[in-house]
Amino acid sequence: MPTCTALIVAAGRGSRFGGSLPKQYALLGGRSVLWHSLGALRAAPGITHMRVVIAPGDEGHYQASTQGFDLPPPILGGASRQLSVLNGLEALAGEPPDFVAIHDAARPFVRPSDIAGCLAAAAAPGIDGAILGVALADTLKQVEDGNVISGTIPRRRLWRAQTPQVFRFKPLLHAHRAAAALGTTEATALTDDAAVAERAGLKVVMVAGSDDNHKVTTAEDLLRASTMETRTAFGFDVHGFGPGSTVMLGGVAVPHIQALSGHSDADVALHALTDAILGSIGAGDIGLHFPPSDPQWRGESSDRFLRHAVGLVAERGGRIVHLDLTLVCEAPRIGPHRQAMVDSIARIAGISRERVSVKATTTEGLGFTGRREGIAAQAVATVEVPKS
Ligand code: MG
Repeated sequence: MPTCTALIVAAGRGSRFGGSLPKQYALLGGRSVLWHSLGALRAAPGITHMRVVIAPGDEGHYQASTQGFDLPPPILGGASRQLSVLNGLEALAGEPPDFVAIHDAARPFVRPSDIAGCLAAAAAPGIDGAILGVALADTLKQVEDGNVISGTIPRRRLWRAQTPQVFRFKPLLHAHRAAAALGTTEATALTDDAAVAERAGLKVVMVAGSDDNHKVTTAEDLLRASTMETRTAFGFDVHGFGPGSTVMLGGVAVPHIQALSGHSDADVALHALTDAILGSIGAGDIGLHFPPSDPQWRGESSDRFLRHAVGLVAERGGRIVHLDLTLVCEAPRIGPHRQAMVDSIARIAGISRERVSVKATTTEGLGFTGRREGIAAQAVATVEVPKS
């Protein structure tokens, strides 16, 4: 198996970050940003060794940040990022690995599977390196005189470069040595390792990564990552069939030979979802907020209940991450209405369709749903709320 050393560059002073602690040592959920980056790299198949490049004087921060990782001593960086990487490469040159994966310590959210994908791309025949990146989604404007738009730049072939950037070790070492001999102006234009490699004529390919792999650059980034927690909660509801010709499911009127009976519009799906969301913030159940004994809820459209629960999450500074619904019935058939239900639930909850899942099953003729006496719904809500 080829060897690949992850070279984590943690030598920056983080001047844009504010505060005295460089951002790679700031805490995120109780652990340093560097610690999270190391964890992602260790979990990536194909990474066989790890070394960290730090700024002289940061040894204490480094020791505190790398507990639990069995690492060789850190390498001291240079006056620029490029020189720090060169120091790292030179330190590895005695026992050169086959590949080196250079990663910014300030990208703690990189996925191990993306790292492995990048390594596989770099190891392809005829390729010298591969980097993670994301195709540009925003329209690019060129601005002159401070704020006057002078043009729109076609974005079709433009990507944002991330790390890791993985290369065959020896060609990259030679490319960096050559770059170190350049004048300052030319050298500062080489803002990542791929640029150093491109200048040396190496063939580097782009691997589609994820927007999650952003660089922690502001105090707000850290605050958000370290102050929110994810919660999951469950909801369940049943309504029996009664006379009628449509059932309300997920806010969609589905034609059927019967209706669901209940105090409100008996939308069993929205009731289960409402209870799941209420559960995620410990806010009781739907009966507490909308008592069946209260005549004002008779025949009420259940989207009101779901909206109320979503509003309670928002009041706490939280948001809905995902809603997953399972309907249990022999009839009506859910499949033809599934997409309409997804759209409806997403609209009521104020989230995108990608965050809603609707599934259906039968009980093979068993039990009350099997006897077609009613419909059961189960829901799981995932929410993000500020840590209490
Ligand atoms: Mg109900």
